[in-house]
Amino acid sequence: MPAFYPYIDLHCDTLPRALSQKQETLFALSDTMTDVKKLREGHCLAQCFAIFMPPLPYVQKADDYPGDEAYIDALHRIFVRTAELHGDVFTRVETAEDLRLLPSSGKLGGILTMEDGRAVQGSFENLKHFYDMGVRILALLWNHANCFGAPNSPDPEIMNTGLTDFGKEAVGYMEELGMGIDVSHLSDGGFWDVVRLSKKPFFATHSNCRALNPHPRSMTDEMIRALADKGGVMGINFCPAFLYEDVSREDAGIDGIAAQLRHRINVGGLECAAVGTDFDGIGGKLEIPDASFMPHLFEELERRGFTADELEHIAYRNTARVLNDIL
Ligand SMILES: [Zn+2]
Repeated sequence: MPAFYPYIDLHCDTLPRALSQKQETLFALSDTMTDVKKLREGHCLAQCFAIFMPPLPYVQKADDYPGDEAYIDALHRIFVRTAELHGDVFTRVETAEDLRLLPSSGKLGGILTMEDGRAVQGSFENLKHFYDMGVRILALLWNHANCFGAPNSPDPEIMNTGLTDFGKEAVGYMEELGMGIDVSHLSDGGFWDVVRLSKKPFFATHSNCRALNPHPRSMTDEMIRALADKGGVMGINFCPAFLYEDVSREDAGIDGIAAQLRHRINVGGLECAAVGTDFDGIGGKLEIPDASFMPHLFEELERRGFTADELEHIAYRNTARVLNDIL
């Protein structure tokens, strides 16, 4: 019996892939882990599509980079065109009402997000501009320091660095706008500032547990409990380097995913566990290689002792609750 759990995936990097393939929409791409067809095969209810900002060291060297503004507009256009040209199967989700209507629509929902707040350039107007464009979750950091703060790092000095003055003020402003705060990639110091300053639940869209995986990208048990206390969720990341004790592993099995999910439930409670695959942002030999394999994952998790109630919370309920609070 295949297990049908409609799910919400908090993170993928498919938009930049569509751009490099010069595609007009996200409907059918070549060799990506996610596109509208694969997501529908996998019974995805909603997928977050990140505008991933290429890192500055890359941008400064690339001759063909059109500049941040043109790049963001190009990704945004692919997202918008998908809804325009494939409106029978794909719809944009920007409000709690959109989310509420989604299951009965039979369509795949697309939620626009942004990874690396560097594009904000320390400006509240830019934040508002991205909100108006449809961005509903923003990862404050990626792997380089920016106007919000410092990234996760093996260097304790960087890791303990908190948010900048702008970053601190932005927390309240984003909550006011209705834009979710994503702490994946953020330094531990920045994470604790978000815990202190936020009044609403927040996301770690694609993060795992440091107790099982010593990578600085992963979250300590203390951090998981703090995120859960605030009503937040953390999406399970399928990247091999973030699943196991051995960070050099290049294979990601269902065993690793199951252990990571069980640990966050044991530490933070059932309400904090969610899905954040990181498809099209990760490599390696994956037992769940693309979105169409998600029913197989849920079936295997059932076989490994996860109850239907637990899987419903992981797949959909927890993330829908937080989105509903924020949007
Ligand atoms: Zn990421």
